Amino acid sequence: MDFETRFRAQLDALRDEGNYRIFADLERQVGQFPKVRNHGSGPDEVTVWCSNDYLGMGQHPDVIGAMVDVTRASGTGAGGTRNISGTAHQHVALEEELADLHGKEDALVFSSGYVSNWAALSTLGSRLPGAVIFSDALNHASMIEGMRHSRARREIWTHNDPEDLDRRLSAYGPEVPKIVAFESVYSMDGDIAPIEEICDVADAHGAMTYIDEVHAVGMYGPRGGGVAEELGLMDRITLIEGTLGKAYGCFGGYITGSAALCDFVRSFASGFIFTTAIPPAVAAAARVAVKHLKSSEIERMRQRRQVARLRRLLDAHGIPHMDNPSHIIPVMIGDPVKCRFIADVLMQEHGIYVQPINYPTVPKGTERLRFTPGPLHTDADIDHLVAALNGLWKQCALARAVA
Ligand code: PMP
Repeated sequence: MDFETRFRAQLDALRDEGNYRIFADLERQVGQFPKVRNHGSGPDEVTVWCSNDYLGMGQHPDVIGAMVDVTRASGTGAGGTRNISGTAHQHVALEEELADLHGKEDALVFSSGYVSNWAALSTLGSRLPGAVIFSDALNHASMIEGMRHSRARREIWTHNDPEDLDRRLSAYGPEVPKIVAFESVYSMDGDIAPIEEICDVADAHGAMTYIDEVHAVGMYGPRGGGVAEELGLMDRITLIEGTLGKAYGCFGGYITGSAALCDFVRSFASGFIFTTAIPPAVAAAARVAVKHLKSSEIERMRQRRQVARLRRLLDAHGIPHMDNPSHIIPVMIGDPVKCRFIADVLMQEHGIYVQPINYPTVPKGTERLRFTPGPLHTDADIDHLVAALNGLWKQCALARAVA
């Protein structure tokens, strides 16, 4: 069998399972977001309802200004890895900004949130002899890959269940280095970890805590420091990981922690050492976004208002959605074919873009549309979305939720 045939066979199998991913062809335009130009099939302009530019900061004039200004002043690429000429002043300033955001001594910026999780967990797990990593069952792929690569022993604890975590930690003696890895806001269900209880359990066993706040930084806490900041728990977390690519509207990922922890990861993580640094202009723009959201409440307030409005209208029409305390609204369909059909009709007939979320990203039978209302969605956008969903609910004879 030649390679082309091998590639095609696997792609066909993926299609047969209903898991082949379709990639939209969209063009964002400054001042128009969440309306974007659509180069794929469907209307020429569509409204994006599944963006992770949660607060629209990728369109903010100050953030755009910083990226343009620094590109003009410093050029495009960083020109090297961080330790071979690639560290620009903008990286150093951004790391200071992030350390301050989370009340930590230091921070390290990586190529992406994915790389930061992968690099930090693979380094901690492999460089701390005998370490055991206690991982929440729903942790993100980037954390799982990092842990696997580390070859450290792993204990998977029941999602958001500190008692199960406690039981598992109890099986190891005090001499074993233990790392408890979890997220704050889980992206597919939008639920939030019981951070304080997890910290209590981790402390009782002398474990370090590692939290992924990728879906929370910028949006939670008085300065956008995440759920741990909102709950006054940042000092109880050993390592806070975040992204610059979602609420901050730019690109890149980071970790923050003590000076020794950051120096340790900086000195041993291949995912930090052997790759070109992010462009200085990206670092400068991200810093402006982080700084802005440390003091501005407007975006967060407006996001909360639009999230509440969408939830209220879905409830009024009996359209079932997961009840969670976050900004993520999963509308439950429970069938992969209907989920794709509804997403297709929303796009083609209503100019509403939302990506269907099917197995293996979520368990079979829990297929859903994941909506992320932001400050730039208007009330009319929300009304339009709910009317379209309501019509589709009728057309597909989907069950209504009872109030
Ligand atoms: N952690 C979680 C929980 C995520 O959902 C994602 C990406 N969706 C990442 C990390 C990776 O972040 P980035 O997109 O910056 O690579």
